[in-house]
Amino acid sequence: MKVSPAPFLFRGGIHPPDSKTATAALPLKDLPLPARLEVSTSQHLGAPAAPCVAVGDRVTAGQLIAKASGFISANVHAPAAGTIAAIREAPTPTGRTATAIIIETDADAPAGEPPYKPIPDWREQAPRSLLDRVAEAGIVGMGGAGFPTHVKLSPPGDKPIDTLILNGAECEPFLNSDNRLLIERAEQVWEGCQIIRRILGAGTIRVAIEDNKREAAKALAAAMESAPDDAHIHLLKTLYPQGSEKQQIYSVTGRTVPMGGLPMDVGCVVENVATAYAVWDAVVNGRPLTARAITVTGDAVNTPTNWFAPVGTSFADLVAASGGARDNLAKLIAGGPMMGFALPSLEVAMSKTSSGLLLFPRECVRPYRSMACINCGRCVEACPLGLMPNELSQAAEADDIDEAENRHVMDCFECGACAYVCPARRPLVQHMRRAKAVITQRRRAAAQQKKT
Ligand code: SF4
Ligand code: SF4
Repeated sequence: MKVSPAPFLFRGGIHPPDSKTATAALPLKDLPLPARLEVSTSQHLGAPAAPCVAVGDRVTAGQLIAKASGFISANVHAPAAGTIAAIREAPTPTGRTATAIIIETDADAPAGEPPYKPIPDWREQAPRSLLDRVAEAGIVGMGGAGFPTHVKLSPPGDKPIDTLILNGAECEPFLNSDNRLLIERAEQVWEGCQIIRRILGAGTIRVAIEDNKREAAKALAAAMESAPDDAHIHLLKTLYPQGSEKQQIYSVTGRTVPMGGLPMDVGCVVENVATAYAVWDAVVNGRPLTARAITVTGDAVNTPTNWFAPVGTSFADLVAASGGARDNLAKLIAGGPMMGFALPSLEVAMSKTSSGLLLFPRECVRPYRSMACINCGRCVEACPLGLMPNELSQAAEADDIDEAENRHVMDCFECGACAYVCPARRPLVQHMRRAKAVITQRRRAAAQQKKT
């Protein structure tokens, strides 16, 4: 097993201050069980899961409470034993609302058996049975997108996967949840990665870690000591967005995912380190995905902390456990500052994809004044995909959605690099998001019409 710098570097990208020092050295702490959990049925990309419990039911830890309701969907389980207090609409960290199952938890309930049979001898098992376990356990991409993992690990037969990339870049400023997971639970992450490789039948494993996380790389290298020659750690230059799939595939393999294409088009699958950990837990211990690492930080929280917390924990409970918010709290962000979502209040519950909660004081929040584009071209230089954010946003603003589509707006993954460098403070990402939403709606309507 070798450790070496990544052989390639994608175009564009930016260098925001990494702001990770407040929590980089803080070990993960288990959050005391909250009295209530608000577990959303929509913690993933695709159709929300369908509740299979009713108000008043008693549930055990890990019990299935909402079933995947389509090909692209994911099961949802109770993070703790308790009683179903309500099933109602609730806000999610992405700003949407979805049905949530409210559990009044029972801290005295015995731990009990895991809901699924552990498979410690997974090396002897057929890949299909391991894939079924990933689906049962409700595992989704925990790096942010929330794409159901069992779907991602089922590429069509004509798209063979030769390379699995384990994504430990964590390029978003402020966040250390993946970093700490790698430092503290490297062996479990590495075993999860090998399980994923068995499912995919991929020959090669490449691990991608930014070069500002040397301790994480060292811990993983120790866990991989006896790994075969086809496993390799690449240290990526610290550059945003090294954690995005297409850029990472290029940095590590030199392969370019075509516009409109997917990683499987170039023989790759990228999985986040937290996802690999969840796969290990589901297969080896029989436990579904009901908890994750999350960094709570920013200058408006009293005690920045890296938590390992049950999904469904309200952000208010997380902040209270982190010593509370300071009086000058002015802005809340779920996720990282580049791709996260601003929250209107702390009355939102964390999900399977919540890697961070940021609290910023008034002095860090500048009033937002946007001006006309001055055609400086900085956004074009920054875009890692080679898009023209200035022209795309102008097309979207003028409601010329066809033009935006022709210029590949659907490839924009909303990394925010263009907006970060824009001297006119143009709301570029918001324009892209709106254009993409209109196009998605149109495509859905067309598909529906075709069906009828
Ligand atoms: S937000 Fe979209 S257009 Fe802007 S830099 Fe990122 S990928 Fe390019
Ligand atoms: S960075 Fe801003 S001002 Fe410069 S070209 Fe892009 S949109 Fe226009």
